[in-house]
Amino acid sequence: MGVSACVYCNCLEKGLLTSQPKAEWNVYVDSDGSRSTQAIDLEAELEFDRWNESACGHEFGVYARASIGNVSLAGMLRKMLSAKEIGKIYPVLLGHVLYNGTHGGDSVPMELMPQLQAEVFQLAGVRCDEQSVEAFLRGFEQTMQALCVDAKALGRPICF
Ligand SMILES: [Zn+2]
Repeated sequence: MGVSACVYCNCLEKGLLTSQPKAEWNVYVDSDGSRSTQAIDLEAELEFDRWNESACGHEFGVYARASIGNVSLAGMLRKMLSAKEIGKIYPVLLGHVLYNGTHGGDSVPMELMPQLQAEVFQLAGVRCDEQSVEAFLRGFEQTMQALCVDAKALGRPICF
């Protein structure tokens, strides 16, 4: 168990789908950036899922996926960034990314993405004397940076 993050592609809006959806599925882009359907009957939903898996060059429209860390790592990072002297500058990392070690199915809202990018940028100034923890922290920083770059380029939020 742990937290993994992803950024969905924008092939639907960019006209880059390799196969077109059926009109009756009413395909739309959900708030997390994924392709979704307004179809309400199970058969159509299953058909949509099969289509969605290979509708573009990205399986299920997932452009990038990365592991944020397991429960103990997320807890360690949360504890570190919550420290009194620095805690106030990481509201999105603490409230939406590291708030527990097992969340999934949620996302950082689009309006908070600029703040998240600023927080990830500030991570560079956080150092830990303990070598193994420092290595985890730098890995987390790189992972979040890469996800933020993709999210910004695609106009997408980061999902978990
Ligand atoms: Zn795609």
